[in-house]
Amino acid sequence: MNSLLLTGGRVVDPANKFDGIADVLILNGKISAVGKNLSAPAGVKTFDAKGKVVCPGLIDLHVHFREPGQTAKENIATGTAAAARGGFTSVVCMPNTSPAIDSAATVALIHERAREQGSVNVYVSGAITKGIAGEELAPIGGLKKAGVVAITDDGHCVQNNDLMRRACEYAKMFDLPLFDHCQDYSLVTDGVMHEGYWSIALGLRGWPAAGEEMIVARNILLAELTGAKIHCQHLSAAGSVALLREAKKRGVPISGEACPHHFTLTDAAVAGGEKFWNADGKILAASQNGELPQWPGYDTNFKMNPPLRSVKDREAILEGLADGTIEILCSDHAPHCDYEKDVEFDYAPFGITGLETELALSLMQLVHTKRISLADMIAKFTVNPARLLNLNKGTLSVGADADVTVFDPETDWIFKAGDSASKSRNSPFSGWKLKGKAVAIIVAGKMIWSEQMEAVEV
Ligand SMILES: [Zn+2]
Repeated sequence: MNSLLLTGGRVVDPANKFDGIADVLILNGKISAVGKNLSAPAGVKTFDAKGKVVCPGLIDLHVHFREPGQTAKENIATGTAAAARGGFTSVVCMPNTSPAIDSAATVALIHERAREQGSVNVYVSGAITKGIAGEELAPIGGLKKAGVVAITDDGHCVQNNDLMRRACEYAKMFDLPLFDHCQDYSLVTDGVMHEGYWSIALGLRGWPAAGEEMIVARNILLAELTGAKIHCQHLSAAGSVALLREAKKRGVPISGEACPHHFTLTDAAVAGGEKFWNADGKILAASQNGELPQWPGYDTNFKMNPPLRSVKDREAILEGLADGTIEILCSDHAPHCDYEKDVEFDYAPFGITGLETELALSLMQLVHTKRISLADMIAKFTVNPARLLNLNKGTLSVGADADVTVFDPETDWIFKAGDSASKSRNSPFSGWKLKGKAVAIIVAGKMIWSEQMEAVEV
C-alpha cells in the first residue's frame, strides 16, 4: 500500500512556507493533499500524528555506507536502517569506498544493492579523481550519466589547484555540484586533533583551523572563476564561516554544511568528559539533567576529520547556521569497527556515526535554544539539500514524491550506541540524554519504519 492519511500533526513544509496543524493525504506514492479535515478514501489507512511534527522526508547528503569493500563497518542494509531510525528518507553516500566510486559500474552496483537491500532512497556521489588519488580526473561525464548527484573526493582533498579548476569546469558542464572536504595537506600534515591549547596539553599533533580555511578560500576563488557550484563539507572553523558569508554576499556559487558534533562538542572533549563539562560543556549540562555522561581522555570516539575545535569555532558554526550562511545540516556518518577505534589516539581512523543522533542534536542546539525556528532547521534537512542536488524532493507539494518524516521534538531519550541499527558503535554521544526523536518515516508513500513497528519486532 502506497497510500496513507496522516492526521492532526503540525505540518512544517518550508518549501511552501507552511507551518500549521493539518492532515496529509498520500495516494499512490505521491502527496495528494495537505489541509484540514481530509478523509481517507476506502481502504486507505490513517496514522494519528497529533502532537508530532510532520515534514518532508529528511535528507542527509553526507554518509559513508562502506559498500563496496568495507562492509565489516557498515553496508547499505544497515546504513539505511540507521538512516530510517534517525528520521531520514534519503541519503547521499560518499565515494571513498573500496574500490572508490569512480566508474559507472560501481555506481550501478550501489544502485542495485540499494534497490535490493536499502530501506530509504540512496543517492550516490562519484569521485572527482580516479581512485580518489588526486592525480587524474575521474570520468565525470560518465558518472553523471550513471546517475551520480554530485562529485567529491571526500575523505581526501584535491591539492592541485589546476586539477581542481578542471574538475570545476567539468562539474559545471554536467550541472553537478562539486562537494569538497576542505583540508590543505601541507598545513595539516599528520595532525590528529585541533591545534590549540588542548593539543599541546595532551601532546597530540595539531590540525590547524587554517588548514580548512585555506581550501575554503581556494574554493571560493575557483567557484568565482569557473561558475561551478562548490559545496564545502563539514565546516568546523570560524574563519571558514566568515569566508563563506562574505563570498555569498557577492553572489559566489558556494555553499556549506555543518555536522552536529562540530556545533555541540569542542576539542576539550578529547581530554575526557570531566574536562569537557568543566571547560566547554556548561551550556549543555542542563540538557543532561545533572547526570553528565563521562568518557576518558584520548577517547577515539572524539576523533574525526575535520576535528572538534574551540569554543569560538563552535559559536561561529552556530552563528553561521542561524544567519543562513550554512544552509545544510548533515551527519558525516562514518562507521568504524571497534577493533579499529580501540587503539591509541594517533592510530585510530577519523570519523563517528551520526545518523541516529543528528536530528535530536540539531533540535537541541538550534531549535530548543531558540537560535533558529523549527521551519529553518527542517529547511536545512529538506528543501536546501534537495535544491543543491537538483532532486525533486524535500517538499510536501501536491504531486511530489511522498517521502515524509514524522518526529516528536520534545521526546526525552537516551542514545545507546550498543542499540544502534548501524553495524558500528563509534559515537561520542552514547549515554547522552537527547531531546527529539523520529517517530516514523514514509518513503514513496510506504511507512517503512516507525517506533511502533520496531516495538512489535522486538
Ligand atoms: Zn570528509
